[in-house]
Amino acid sequence: MTDKSYLDWPFFEPQHAALEAALDAWAMQHLANANHATRDRADVDDACRQLVRQLGDGGWLRHAVAGVEHGGHAHAIDTRAICLIRETLARHDGLADFAFAMQGLGAGAISLHGSADQRRRYLPRVAGGAAIAAFALSEPQAGSDVAAIQCAATADGDHYILEGEKTWISNGGIADFYVVFARTGEQPGARGISAFIVDADTPGFEIAARIDVIAPHPLARLRFNRCRIPAAQRIGAAGQGFKVAMSTLDVFRTSVAAAALGFARRALDEALAHATQRQMFGQMLSDFQLTQAKLADMATGIDAAALLTYRAAWQRDCGRKVTKEAAMAKLAATETAQQVIDAALQMFGGLGVVSEQPVERLYREIRALRIYEGATEVQQLIIARELLREAAAMKGEV
Ligand SMILES: Cc1cc2nc3c(=O)[nH]c(=O)nc-3n(C[C@H](O)[C@H](O)[C@H](O)COP(=O)(O)OP(=O)(O)OC[C@H]3O[C@@H](n4cnc5c(N)ncnc54)[C@H](O)[C@@H]3O)c2cc1C
Repeated sequence: MTDKSYLDWPFFEPQHAALEAALDAWAMQHLANANHATRDRADVDDACRQLVRQLGDGGWLRHAVAGVEHGGHAHAIDTRAICLIRETLARHDGLADFAFAMQGLGAGAISLHGSADQRRRYLPRVAGGAAIAAFALSEPQAGSDVAAIQCAATADGDHYILEGEKTWISNGGIADFYVVFARTGEQPGARGISAFIVDADTPGFEIAARIDVIAPHPLARLRFNRCRIPAAQRIGAAGQGFKVAMSTLDVFRTSVAAAALGFARRALDEALAHATQRQMFGQMLSDFQLTQAKLADMATGIDAAALLTYRAAWQRDCGRKVTKEAAMAKLAATETAQQVIDAALQMFGGLGVVSEQPVERLYREIRALRIYEGATEVQQLIIARELLREAAAMKGEV
């Protein structure tokens, strides 16, 4: 039984607690019987497609896009709602969280910066679960160092020609469209990148390879081979792609923290249930002070990470800059969740490493969150850069 007292925190409004309660009830009904054991690559594609449809039918994907007129739940993205949805889904089923998150991340640039026509053509289908979205930024030589991307988009009349590769692209292979960041060369580095929407059936676009990972989900390397796309598919102004990517990540980076919280809360629930029924040395595992210390550390870490996560979400919803706070949330929540899940697994002893036990699954599911959307070290650099900038600004004021 998960402790929901955090929903009383001042970061939330009444509709947020209602949203969480409704989704929790929906998840218990629709996700409880997921057959995790059969989710190998072929099945994971189908499972993901089905989850997108289910989440669309349930109305949950409406929270992943902005604009009521385009099927969204509200005019603007509600970061707290997205975080609560991710936390709740992650607690029930990591793949359901993934399916929801990718609809939001993949369509995020369109919600935030798309033209009226782009919003009209793509967002309703994403919100209804009729189209699957993907976000294609990383390349083999440009992961943490995003500004080093080489995939190029060359203007050709009222078209662009895309040439190059993307890798680690979630939903790669099943997405209906990809938001692709490519070098257009207005200026060197980050200022010479633009964002484009590429439909999956565009000639010259192909899935170069599928990638199997520790916690299965659709993932692929993409190739663009003289892939010709209309200039009207560019999102925002030429050369503004880096800003488009970063503002999208400002929303979804915080939501990665929320997903980590969901995994950690599930691990604590599992640990509490196990420790209070496992007998050893004539008493329960939970009667030992060593166990109690572990449980206390787990709960304290979760609350600290949750406070950082929902502070960042609330701050963004207030329209304030959130770069440092989102980085703190992602860093703290993903690192804490890894520790909490490891401690939970340890309490299960041998059972903890049996395939498809909940804690074993959580142990695999949490790992990539410390790497994608900016690895822990990248978050540390972001936080330090913001701190030093603030310090310099304060000095300047004196
Ligand atoms: C499961 C999964 C899903 C993904 N989904 C997507 C997606 O949908 N779209 C997309 O565009 N990308 C996606 N990615 C890519 C992800 O964002 C990159 O993997 C990530 O940015 C790290 O890049 P890299 O793998 O090239 O590692 P590298 O950049 O080579 O970094 C390797 C390691 O170096 C360390 N490091 C990084 N910078 C520094 C530094 N300055 N100082 C010291 N150490 C440092 C970190 O520990 C890092 O993990 C996904 C990745 C994974 C694993």
